[in-house]
Amino acid sequence: MQISKSKALFEKAQNYIPGGVNSPVRAFRAVGGDPVFIEKASGAHITDVDGNSYIELINSWGPMILGHNHPMIKEAIIKAMENGTSFGAPTAREVEIAELITGMVPSIEKVRMVNSGTEATMSAIRVARGFTGKDKFIKMEGHYHGHGDSFLIAAGSGAITMGAPDSPGVTKGTAKDTLLAPYNDLEAIEKLVLANKNEVAALILEPVPGNMGLVLPKAGYLEGLRKICDREGIVLIFDEVMTGFRLAKGGAQEIFGVTPDMTTLGKIIGGGMPVGAYGGKKEIMEFVSPAGPVYQAGTLSGNPIAMAAGLAMLHHLNSTPEVYATLDSIGDKIVTGYRNSLDKLGLNYTINHIGSMFSLFFTDKEIFDFESAKHSDTALFGKYFQSMLHKGIYLAPSQFESLFLSTALTDDLISQIITANEESLKEILGK
Ligand code: PMP
Repeated sequence: MQISKSKALFEKAQNYIPGGVNSPVRAFRAVGGDPVFIEKASGAHITDVDGNSYIELINSWGPMILGHNHPMIKEAIIKAMENGTSFGAPTAREVEIAELITGMVPSIEKVRMVNSGTEATMSAIRVARGFTGKDKFIKMEGHYHGHGDSFLIAAGSGAITMGAPDSPGVTKGTAKDTLLAPYNDLEAIEKLVLANKNEVAALILEPVPGNMGLVLPKAGYLEGLRKICDREGIVLIFDEVMTGFRLAKGGAQEIFGVTPDMTTLGKIIGGGMPVGAYGGKKEIMEFVSPAGPVYQAGTLSGNPIAMAAGLAMLHHLNSTPEVYATLDSIGDKIVTGYRNSLDKLGLNYTINHIGSMFSLFFTDKEIFDFESAKHSDTALFGKYFQSMLHKGIYLAPSQFESLFLSTALTDDLISQIITANEESLKEILGK
């Protein structure tokens, strides 16, 4: 594989952009080698500037659930652009998307559009604090909620990958209001709540975390959190930036039947454009300005082009329920193929899987929280990543991420992925 144009671009980029990239994990630091620079993508494939084409298993970290450059979304964007790119004033599309979201996501009665997942979570915490009049909140170790100051403590995703789960620049004053708990451990929450009686505004978590690799909630865990939050008057926030509109049209909350008080959304909601949203119970969302006193705003929030892309995506997902059966079946086929290969090669590596999200961990230990995720052999993952890339499969460049599948993966592509996986495992393990 030849990546000379990517190499040249990366070298130049480092003169002008910190680390050469606009989001850290893109630099491939955790997997070695230079990042490939992308020129275009269509359906299940992404193509770099040297003309190498790869089968996509991250899909822009989640948004491209129907594959890249879907004609329906492209048309919606082009049509919207004919009327101008930004107004900074309300539009009909914002009303339409808000109505659609409240119909799809069980917990959301009112919703506010923002420009990223980071903005959604930062705003949700502020609103929960304003609503309860309390300062502290509980966050799970290894979960990622974007780069807001109060979340960069034991943070997952790129923060783990870069070895900086606790970022410099976050003041002690801010950090003291973020209480940490291990995921999947109700007893730890009970203890934390008792030690901070009447001081906890919110508990935020990824119901199905994908930012320390994919981890599933133990039976009864989400229900248990719901009970504790009800008892203690704590606002339960599900961060469904990854899982929203992916695991089901109503996200993880629909699948697990547990309704949080607030939900944060991103990725798929913008159809590939920069969009996030937060919403929840009416009485909480009525605290948001100008309805209420908690300030939150955005020059480009509800941007007409972004809303057109998001609307096209959500309308499709809402009116085509078979999308989720298709995604589940694609996920099942790939994971079954991977498991067969592991058996054949006498390997006991852990695969965590739900619907169209999965992670292959280079450890035989069960992975159910941040501590257990750390057992994975990240050096081996780096070799595996490079081997897969050279076989034309584009993975997330870190062990601590989930993969995201799209409906564009045909049976033929699925077999290519399974074969590449088996060959890569053989190659890196010398089997
Ligand atoms: N929450 C979760 C669960 C996420 O996975 C992410 C991003 N991967 C974010 C929040 C932040 O979203 P953004 O990168 O759009 O700011």
